[in-house]
Amino acid sequence: MTTTLVADIGLLVTHDEERPERERAALVIDGGVVAWVGDARDAPAADRRVDAAGACVIPGFVDSHSHLVFAGDRADEFEARMAGRRYEAGGIRKTVRLTRDATDEQLLARATSLVAEMRAQGTTTVEIKSGYGLTVADEARALRLARTLTAETTFLGAHVVPAEFAHDRDAYVELVVGEMLAACAPSARWIDVFCETGAFTAEESRRILSAGAAAGLGLRVHAGQLGESDGVRLAVELGAASVDHCTFLSGADVDALAGSDTVATLLPGVEFSTRQPYPDARRLIDAGVTVALASDCNPGSSFTSSLPFCIAVAVRELGMTPAEALRAATLGGAAALRRDDVGHLRLGARADLIVLDAPGYVHLAYRPGVPLVRQVLSAG
Ligand SMILES: [Zn+2]
Repeated sequence: MTTTLVADIGLLVTHDEERPERERAALVIDGGVVAWVGDARDAPAADRRVDAAGACVIPGFVDSHSHLVFAGDRADEFEARMAGRRYEAGGIRKTVRLTRDATDEQLLARATSLVAEMRAQGTTTVEIKSGYGLTVADEARALRLARTLTAETTFLGAHVVPAEFAHDRDAYVELVVGEMLAACAPSARWIDVFCETGAFTAEESRRILSAGAAAGLGLRVHAGQLGESDGVRLAVELGAASVDHCTFLSGADVDALAGSDTVATLLPGVEFSTRQPYPDARRLIDAGVTVALASDCNPGSSFTSSLPFCIAVAVRELGMTPAEALRAATLGGAAALRRDDVGHLRLGARADLIVLDAPGYVHLAYRPGVPLVRQVLSAG
């Protein structure tokens, strides 16, 4: 097995409990995992050497929320929104139409290029949702394609009620929990529901999530994007790994999250792109809630693949320190996916890491929009 020494690290972030950061460090990778961490001057020999040349090294980003299987884009909708039109969940239906009409090759080529775009910006673990097919065959296809790119696949048949069921939403929910779930579960690790006005009610969401759990899937929920809803407390009650958006939260929602293992995943690319108020990360962190940052990369409400961008916005607009934002985009994302092998560089972790073109991670927020990811190692 080839060993790799990452030498001359100016600042190394491991998220080790006792010593989360160390200066003038080195790290050795063996068999794709972190095998040694210590002072640069004590670094052992290895087969291969990556010279960090005094730069900062951080764990690879864990993007725990994205929608990458789709066709077309919605630049026109974005342009209209910037001219004053407000965001509505119904825009999803345009992407559904285009996605159903696309070939497997077209969908896979687009998703593959977005994953490559993410990786170039430091993302080494990504979750991908279905949700632009909304038929049994199209949802199953989206998950089959996503599975070729990541193990973290999420069935989101309950993204929006498709146009052909507009007058019989109960029949659509019936389809989602029945035939569609059965066809999708083999390619999915998670099930998700968009619990929001204009999408699915709390009662419908409960039914869909319970069916997913019975099929062996872990639970995720979209809630609190457009207003307060019962979705956050539902997610906590059902033991969801993550509730995503959390822009509008009541005091009871924050208390429920604080007493739970459910991660609050914040998606500031959405507020940026829909010109909505940002979530209050400070309030969540101060209450003891585990917070993740993710891109929500999708053609409607957040067409960014960049976690460095999300970190910069989180520091500027969500009340997070640079250290908290980095933690949320790495360890937080891992918690949202219930993974303990990624998001950190402790001994035994998957050797997913980023060599920054900067002396510290503060630069991710301090130098917004600047490509600071010099090199990405994935499992060594
Ligand atoms: Zn989403």
